[in-house]
Amino acid sequence: MTPNLDAARARADEMDRADPLRAMAERFHLPEGVIYLDGNSLGPAPKAALREVEAALHSEWAEKLITSWNAAGWFAAPSDYGDILAPAIGAGKGEVLVCDTTTLNAHKVLHAALKMRPGRTNIVAEGDSFPTNIHAAEGVTGLAAERRLLLEGEDGDRVEDLIDDRTAVVFLNHINYRTGVVRDMGLLTKRAHDAGALAIWDLCHSAGVFDVRLNEAGADFAVGCTYKYLNGGPGGPAYLFAAARHIPEVEQPLTGWWGHEAPFSFDVHHRSDKGIRKFLSGTQHMLSMRGAKAGLELAASQDIAAVRAKSMGLTQLFTELAEEICGEFGIGVFSPREAERRGSQVALTHPEAYAVMQALIERKVIGDFRTPDILRFGFAPLYVSYRDAVEAVAVLREVLVTEAWRDERFRTRAAVT
Ligand SMILES: *Cc1c(COP(=O)(O)O)cnc(C)c1O
Repeated sequence: MTPNLDAARARADEMDRADPLRAMAERFHLPEGVIYLDGNSLGPAPKAALREVEAALHSEWAEKLITSWNAAGWFAAPSDYGDILAPAIGAGKGEVLVCDTTTLNAHKVLHAALKMRPGRTNIVAEGDSFPTNIHAAEGVTGLAAERRLLLEGEDGDRVEDLIDDRTAVVFLNHINYRTGVVRDMGLLTKRAHDAGALAIWDLCHSAGVFDVRLNEAGADFAVGCTYKYLNGGPGGPAYLFAAARHIPEVEQPLTGWWGHEAPFSFDVHHRSDKGIRKFLSGTQHMLSMRGAKAGLELAASQDIAAVRAKSMGLTQLFTELAEEICGEFGIGVFSPREAERRGSQVALTHPEAYAVMQALIERKVIGDFRTPDILRFGFAPLYVSYRDAVEAVAVLREVLVTEAWRDERFRTRAAVT
């Protein structure tokens, strides 16, 4: 029987009318007719970012040439943009730096943390972490024979069980990239500190859509990218947080002239900057950097309570409706059912998840596939409406009913899924 979606549509429209964030969608460029549920992989372009990139190209680079390092604020951008982002992640001025990639920043803070805990050998992380975090931790442990990387889940252990007096640092994802599970930053940071260890948080899936409170939680370090919910553009710079109390003493291994106290003194030997800029290495990718500014400003100017409330509302509506009208076609729910425990995404399962997602994308409902059988949908509250959530489920049901996903052209996997 075809479900009647009229009631769900009417309710969604009512929620959209009452949505305090409804005007925000205007700030983004979204292609006509697309329901974009992949802002957790690549956020759409803020209209202001398009204007800023134009200015960076035509005015700052083409016309003003080298003067832009000073006049357009290029040189100061990593720390200035960090200050713009800081309130959105519960950090203070001078604690955040926008630079490099999440992976490189993870290397920097892992080394920094290990150096702050001499005599301790272990890094604790999650076995189902976004892989690059594990890759980085493996690189860091590989540099000294006594170092160990302990992964949650490998022997059934929980992070809490792996932390002991050998732990130098605990490196955790605030929100898991596949399941959407939220971890308790305050509790786990405290657990690390009680054991004498430090805590690094990866905010890739929480910054911009969750009330991140790094300083309230006592976090030591954090890393994250700008190109997901912060809408900073493809390959946009990442960021790094170091708690103010650590900045005077902390050392990072990727030293270079941009992290020098006085880069233009051209000193032969390294003397690191006294502030957060000590985490810089070399020249930043300035066009990408300029593309990220508008998204950071947008994120930092939101009422995060309203953003989180809408995020929970959207994911709840989508999850319940998907279960109700697509469950009979093999759709399962992989993310937590309770909105409180879930980030801003919903992971559904289907044995033919890859092909199903390709069929959805052809119908302009864009989410992504994650191995082995996950259909992942990100709900960015600034531009996704409740009505979008309902229409996305309606299209999913249509793809399943008609078995449109069986088509041969949906079987070939592209390099990026
Ligand atoms: C997307 C993502 C990254 C990306 O790292 P890059 O170095 O920017 O490619 C890292 N960690 C997590 C948890 C992510 O989701």
